[in-house]
Parts: sequence; C-alpha cells; structure tokens
Amino acid sequence: MKIAVLTGGVGGARFLRGLVDAVDPAQVTAIVNVGDDLEVLGLAVSPDLDSVLYALAGVADEERGWGRADETWNALESVEALGGESWFRLGDRDLGVHLVRTQARNAGQSLSAVTARLAVALGVETTLLPATDEPLRTWLDTPNGSFAFQDWFVARRHRDPVDRVRFEGAASARPAPGVLDALHEAALILLAPSNPFVSIGPILAVERIRSAIERRRVPCVAVSPLIARQAVKGPAAVMLQRLQGGTTAAHVAQCYPGLIDVLMIDEADAADADAVSALGIRPLITRTLMRDPTARRRLAEAALDAVAFA
Ligand code: GDP
Ligand code: CA
Repeated sequence: MKIAVLTGGVGGARFLRGLVDAVDPAQVTAIVNVGDDLEVLGLAVSPDLDSVLYALAGVADEERGWGRADETWNALESVEALGGESWFRLGDRDLGVHLVRTQARNAGQSLSAVTARLAVALGVETTLLPATDEPLRTWLDTPNGSFAFQDWFVARRHRDPVDRVRFEGAASARPAPGVLDALHEAALILLAPSNPFVSIGPILAVERIRSAIERRRVPCVAVSPLIARQAVKGPAAVMLQRLQGGTTAAHVAQCYPGLIDVLMIDEADAADADAVSALGIRPLITRTLMRDPTARRRLAEAALDAVAFA
C-alpha cells in the first residue's frame, strides 16, 4: 500500500520514523515543506528536508532534537571568530550536506534531484520530495514587522505574535516532479503532526497539491500536533490561539477544511472529540506522544487503522 505524507521537520520526521517501522519504507513518499529554506554563508540550506533525511537515515541527534548526531562545530566556531554569519547553527557534518547540495544547485540540478541523491547516498529507501522545486518562502507578518521564517523562528525565537503567514512564490509554484503522482497513487494520505501554519501550510499553498488532496478518492488522516491543547514543542499552540481563536482539537481540524477525513487527537484532548465530529471530521482518540520508537510506531499503526474508519 502506497502512502503519501505531508511533513515539516522535526515533528514530522518523528512520525515518519514510526511509519517506516510499521510499513515498507519504499512504499512511503514524504512531501516536505520548503518554506523554511534559506541561504546561510552562501549555502543552500533546507532544514525540514534535512530533518527528515537525518531521521530516516538514523543519523539525527535525538537529544538535541535537530541536526546530526556526533556533531562538531569547528567550522561555525571559525566563522564566529572571523566575525562571519553565525546565528544559524550549522554543524560540521551538517555542513557537508549543504556543500553537496549547494554545488549541485549551482550546477543547475533541481532541489528534488539533489535530495533524491542525498537520500540514496544515506541509504534512505523512502522517497523524499520537496513540495516544489521553485522558490517558496514563508513570511510572518507581526506587529514588529515582517520576517522571513528563520529570522522569526531562530534569530527572534518566534517571540513576535503572528498576525498573518504568507508564502512568497506559492501562487506560481508547481509541485516538484513525483509529488502529484505520489498523491494520486497513494491509498492513504497522511498529514504529519507538524505545525499546520508554517510546516503543512506552505505545502498546501502549492495550489495543485491542495487541489489534488481536495479531490482525493482515498482517506486523508491528520495527526494533531497538540497534546492537552498545548504544542509538544514550538509555536503551534500560540499561533492557533491567535490565528484560529483557540487551541482545541476542533481548532486544529479547522486548519484543514475539506482536506482531511480523520483527525487523530490525544487522549488528553478526548473532550474535544464531539466538536471535531461536528465539523464532519472523524476524531480518533489515541496516545500521540512519540517519546520512543514503540510510541512512534504505535501512532503510525493507529493512523493506518484509521483507514477503516474514514
Ligand atoms: P519543524 O519543522 O522542525 O518545526 O517541525 P514540524 O512542524 O514537523 O513539527 C513541529 C510540531 O510537532 C510541533 O507543533 C509539535 O507540537 C509537534 N510534535 C512534536 N513531537 C510530537 C509528539 O510526540 N506528538 C505530537 N502529537 N506532536 C508532536
Ligand atoms: Ca520547519
């Protein structure tokens, strides 16, 4: 059974690891957010693609929660000592990936082509696709100004309240090669428990991806990123409160109008189930904290079971 998963970085990567433990990894296609992509020190960096790549290759740093395991920071320390750009943390091993990607991009290779090459080189059997090969950049409008995603998220530590999320380039962006095929061939479409606004939002901003999901003939199941109405990590709940008016599971469901059949919510949010049902979306109550491999795999298996209820 082929499965297509829309995903951001760390939260989505955790979920994907559980999924590829539960099914044949080669049957899974990850369609990954590129709205966070940026240029640092002249290098093309794709944070969410890399989080997924590192997680599936088994080289992610689990404790830190981002980047690569066994990382060292010599290059960045040298940059810092020279007064160079050092706000975005790039480790030595991580830098190797950005060097290879940047060279390929400068030689005219598409992001999807170089991503496929990196995945093969790291032994990843799952297909990793950027949502689009064209520039698509997430911007946040806040009372303190408009910021590109990483300026807001990393440099300003997402402290500015967000009034609006914009996706520069999305209107003309075409899905990367393979994305629409993956959505059409999938027996199940999953939205990872990634941030709905800044991780899944940019993917859905590519019109032909959104319409492919709107016209799906197979179930689409989303996993809520909230537990007990709070984000496990990051700004999802704060954004939901301000942009959607609350942090119940129903507010999460309202991020995906016409796009999902099932919303998997945590036991701690069971009280919100009726409000989700009232939106015509089936709530599926389970344990959604992916604290270890067993928990990750169980959540993925529950998502597969959700097909029966869709
Ligand atoms: P990013 O691109 O690296 O910021 O990561 P994502 O957008 O893919 O994931 C961030 C979201 O994952 C956050 O909103 C978290 O609340 C959510 N998340 C992280 N770990 C878990 C977990 O164990 N369970 C659930 N349900 N959500 C999680
Ligand atoms: Ca991200």
